[in-house]
Amino acid sequence: LQWDITLAWGYQTGAGRHPDRAAIIDDDGVLTYAEVNERTSRLAHAFRAGERVGLLCRNHRGFIETMTACTKIGADAVLLNTSLSKGQLAQVAQDQKIDRIVADREFADVLPDVPTFFDDELESLIINGPAAPLPRRPPRGRLIVLTSGTTGTPKGAKRPEPASLAPAAALLSRIPLKHGDVIAITSPLFHAWGLAAFQLGLVLGATLVLRRRFDPAQTLKDAENCTAMFVVPVMLQRMLDIPHRPKLRIIASSGSALPPRVASRTLEEFGPVLYNLYGSTEVSWASIATPEEMLAEPGTAGRPPLGTRLAVVDDQGRPVAPGETGRIFVGNEMLFDGYTNGTSKESLNGLMSTGDLGYVKDGLLFVAGRDDEMIVSGGENVYPREVEDLLSNLDGVTEVAVLGVPDDEFGQRLAAFVVGDESLTADHVREHVRANLARFSVPRDVFFVNELPRNAAGKVLKRQLREQV
Ligand code: ATP
Repeated sequence: LQWDITLAWGYQTGAGRHPDRAAIIDDDGVLTYAEVNERTSRLAHAFRAGERVGLLCRNHRGFIETMTACTKIGADAVLLNTSLSKGQLAQVAQDQKIDRIVADREFADVLPDVPTFFDDELESLIINGPAAPLPRRPPRGRLIVLTSGTTGTPKGAKRPEPASLAPAAALLSRIPLKHGDVIAITSPLFHAWGLAAFQLGLVLGATLVLRRRFDPAQTLKDAENCTAMFVVPVMLQRMLDIPHRPKLRIIASSGSALPPRVASRTLEEFGPVLYNLYGSTEVSWASIATPEEMLAEPGTAGRPPLGTRLAVVDDQGRPVAPGETGRIFVGNEMLFDGYTNGTSKESLNGLMSTGDLGYVKDGLLFVAGRDDEMIVSGGENVYPREVEDLLSNLDGVTEVAVLGVPDDEFGQRLAAFVVGDESLTADHVREHVRANLARFSVPRDVFFVNELPRNAAGKVLKRQLREQV
């Protein structure tokens, strides 16, 4: 199935098979499958075939309905990250040749000069939209997802053409989701993880619960009526601070590394229901860890799902020995088609680089972190993630980020940014690392901050921290 067929098809067949089932529950109420199908057919007439529509929205019905309407008429949808600045948005709009934007009114001040429909106008476009028939076979709309922009301006990643049900099959091979599940999606829909959650939910005929803004207490309250919750690690961490443990069958975390302490606490307090998914916009799922695997090894990213091959290789492309750290490559049917600027990721025998380093132990993958974040200090390799995981276990530490900064003597030195209680001192932090890791892993600079800068998908913006140093 094509991606575009999947969306339009999802609501059309859903409307036929379970018309009265809730498809979307959001801040504005409930929409059934029949309603979403009918409303998106009307909304589709507001767009033109071949048009490129940028979406700058929080998680709500308007986002999903616009994406679906685009697929029904054959327009391209470019999913824009809500944390982009005005300058970045103007750049992305130009790079991606965006003809029209659908945006939440709150972003009015950062929009580029492109014709725009605001979220509060969609309802009247739907109500007044003609019930006229849509093309039976619209030109194939494309879906452009942007990378997080962790390392620079977000790049447009083209999804495979034709896309398939391979992502759903891969997920279902490791996560026991099922028809009729009620899924709270807290990760932003514009990010590859939130989007995958949405597509999977649609394929399963699930009910999706969305909120414009993430509020940990509200999500836990919503979860009372859900069977599954899809999160990014920092959201899970915020929910652990609230003493409310609804009964869920599945908590799926992805988008960035899951700190082992957050994994252990979740498994302890919510039960054996946590799944850790490792992947990226470019390669889709590389591996998935089940609750049993994380109970044994809280830091693991698990095993490749159905249809995925994984290799850890050295700089010459040769497989490394078990337990040895190397570069992670992945092969599956979901590899992306390259960036919209014509570049791509490095390939090796049909596998694609994830840009991450890691190792395999007893068949389980451990992600050490991004290749370009590895610190070389005095000739020694330091993986910031190892130091971060260690420090996040120190009493009083809530969040921590470790990075390399230029140093005259050692080439690079380590800097740690710590969010935690006031009893912590820099010496205390250094001492904890010294007692557990090699001497060259000890952060020379320790900064105590109130919060870490994060993008909308919850990822720490290390670039910003580096600039501060
Ligand atoms: P950009 O390419 O614009 O810099 P990005 O690489 O952060 O952005 P994403 O595709 O959202 O964009 O992020 C994928 C990366 O996130 C992975 O390569 C990996 O470094 C990290 N990641 C995602 N999930 C996990 C996980 N479960 N465990 C460890 N790392 C993860």
